[in-house]
Amino acid sequence: MTTGKFRVRFAPSPTGDLHVGNARTALFNYLFARHHGGRFILRIEDTDAARTSKDFENRILEDLAWLAIDWDEGPGAGGEKGPYHQRERLDLYEHHLKKLIRDDRVYPCYCTEEELEAERTELVFRRMAPRYLGKCRNLNDSQRKTLASQGREAAYRFRVGTGDITFTDLIRGAMKFDAEAIGDFIIVRSNGIPAYNFAVVVDDHLMEISHVIRGEDHLSNTALQLLLYQALGFAPPRFAHHALILGKDRAKLSKRHGAVAVREFRAKGVLPEVLLNYLALLGSSFSSGREICTRGEMVASFSLDRAGKSGAVFDEDKLKWLNGTYIRQGDLFRLTEQLLPFMRAAGYHDVGTIGRGRLERIVDAVRGDLTLLSDIGDQMDVFFDDRFALSGDAKRLLMDDEPLSVVQALRETLARLPAGAKEDYGRIITAVKQKTGLAGKKLFLPIRAAVTGRIKGPELDKVFAILNPESLKRRVETALDVPSEAER
Ligand code: GLU
Repeated sequence: MTTGKFRVRFAPSPTGDLHVGNARTALFNYLFARHHGGRFILRIEDTDAARTSKDFENRILEDLAWLAIDWDEGPGAGGEKGPYHQRERLDLYEHHLKKLIRDDRVYPCYCTEEELEAERTELVFRRMAPRYLGKCRNLNDSQRKTLASQGREAAYRFRVGTGDITFTDLIRGAMKFDAEAIGDFIIVRSNGIPAYNFAVVVDDHLMEISHVIRGEDHLSNTALQLLLYQALGFAPPRFAHHALILGKDRAKLSKRHGAVAVREFRAKGVLPEVLLNYLALLGSSFSSGREICTRGEMVASFSLDRAGKSGAVFDEDKLKWLNGTYIRQGDLFRLTEQLLPFMRAAGYHDVGTIGRGRLERIVDAVRGDLTLLSDIGDQMDVFFDDRFALSGDAKRLLMDDEPLSVVQALRETLARLPAGAKEDYGRIITAVKQKTGLAGKKLFLPIRAAVTGRIKGPELDKVFAILNPESLKRRVETALDVPSEAER
């Protein structure tokens, strides 16, 4: 097979929001396809009407689009091997079921849910692995008729033989399962809906999937699927089962560990490229050992075993650290765009009326203090007079004579600047320095406190370049008022 024929798929069941673990599976498939010049297919596994919804499907598509994981075939993209929703493929499953019935590879099972539950309970009680013991396996026609006449609906079970089921996993190497432990499994339920393992085999075959890349929680399913490939006379694809993302307690990452849905991270203000970078790196490292990796590098250096060998603990602090790094280094225009919704959410409703140049200067001034995009509200209030306030620290500092003398010198300097002159930070600082004879912290801290209201924050030259002279002067007056205000 030439690599041009590589076809992989991501096959979410829309029963909830896209979990970061599934996003990682999608990413691995996407990177594998792009690395080999193959095709990446999106298939929606929506046969379970009770648990799946169109709403979740739309949200998953939206999350994938946000991550810029785009598919070559699937919903919205078309493709020759569709339809790409399982609900629209029921006739195909039926066709293959008929073949299995003809070949006597499956049989109708009339057991009710209660009977099966009783069997499972009994086996567990006897400390045996729960599995179907084959009650309906050898029924003759008249027995089947009798059961059907009792109003029992038949499900179809696959006749599992004996012996070992073996395959070579591209990540985990040689795998072996004992068929005897499996028990005849249902491939079509009594309501006519195909079970996951059956639908997946029919689809992966008809969609000409060359590599199935998915989480290791599907390993035991692969054994069942291999039996179906064989019974249907299909050549199976290659399989690669990657390790799962773990929580801090090394259990599979789940809601009880905190945020797990892609959209939760999005709402917090994690950048899509950061989430991807983090998921790609989790549990592995790129050859250079670097933490930051562009999409092009991810595609170029992707390899299955490096990506998925060991389970890795999801560390939200590390994700945030990476987010801060991207925010500091990213393209300013794009970052500003990404911040706009967060500014609005923080109450800056008329942010659209602020000139673009000014807005970008503000973003540039505060980006060093952002970890999440949602931090923007607290950081940008420095630049808005109606939000400006002196912090307790700033007030305490401005109670003393020496800092006040600095602010006093700043007032004189500002007053002497020609009207309308563009504030020249360097000139102002030099003048204040000369007037006070102070330098370093003693010089800068009082200026910072007076002008930004805080003792930590954006670089002062950037602040001076953004604030207009009038608000600068007002802030200096407010600062000089601190001691007398405290007396009142
Ligand atoms: N719908 C299955 C899931 O979401 C797909 C598993 C597979 O990739 O075969 O887990």
